[in-house]
Amino acid sequence: MHLIDLHIHSTYSRDSDLKIEDILKYCLGFEKATIAVADHNNLRSIEELSLLAADKRYKNIRCIPSVELSALLGGERVHLLYYFKDSAMINPSLREYLDHRYSEGMRIDIEEALRFKDGNMIISLAHPRLFLDKIGYLKAKGVDALEIFNPKLSMEEMTKNLEHAVMLDMPITSGSDSHGSKTPDRAIGRYNSHFLDISYAGRFLRLLE
Ligand SMILES: [Zn+2]
Ligand SMILES: [Zn+2]
Repeated sequence: MHLIDLHIHSTYSRDSDLKIEDILKYCLGFEKATIAVADHNNLRSIEELSLLAADKRYKNIRCIPSVELSALLGGERVHLLYYFKDSAMINPSLREYLDHRYSEGMRIDIEEALRFKDGNMIISLAHPRLFLDKIGYLKAKGVDALEIFNPKLSMEEMTKNLEHAVMLDMPITSGSDSHGSKTPDRAIGRYNSHFLDISYAGRFLRLLE
């Protein structure tokens, strides 16, 4: 079975106790795995992941470099998942913001966050609880995809998001949002079968090519 989990937090997120190495070991239980470790507001997982995953033991695993950015849309808190095609080509101004200007608890205005957008990244709106008009607005500003499956959302919210994605013809993403032992209800791979079954996974993965 192919495990695809596009939203995992490692110990590079303060609120997670999942070690990168343990995430990789977990993936060994699957024929093939595609994962994104999207830590909060920092790019530190990317280097460690690529070093560890180079071990041939992990040849069944594809790691998509990523980060989850905290932003503000009007007064609302939103999270943006950035997925990079090439970790060597990460927008230098985004890197500069995260490495030097970001400090704990900061939230960047969404317009500013979307200014980092370039051809090397796909942006998905994490666990959205927004109305259709706001999602439409974000799509026009550069948000590519919607994270439909995330255990933070109720079934009702996920269904609504799926309707929005269909209406706006947006690709969808899926992630467990696992934070290790702190989130026992969000095991890695949660909703994996939903994501694979409706064959949305392929559409998203093609965007990264
Ligand atoms: Zn989030
Ligand atoms: Zn998250």
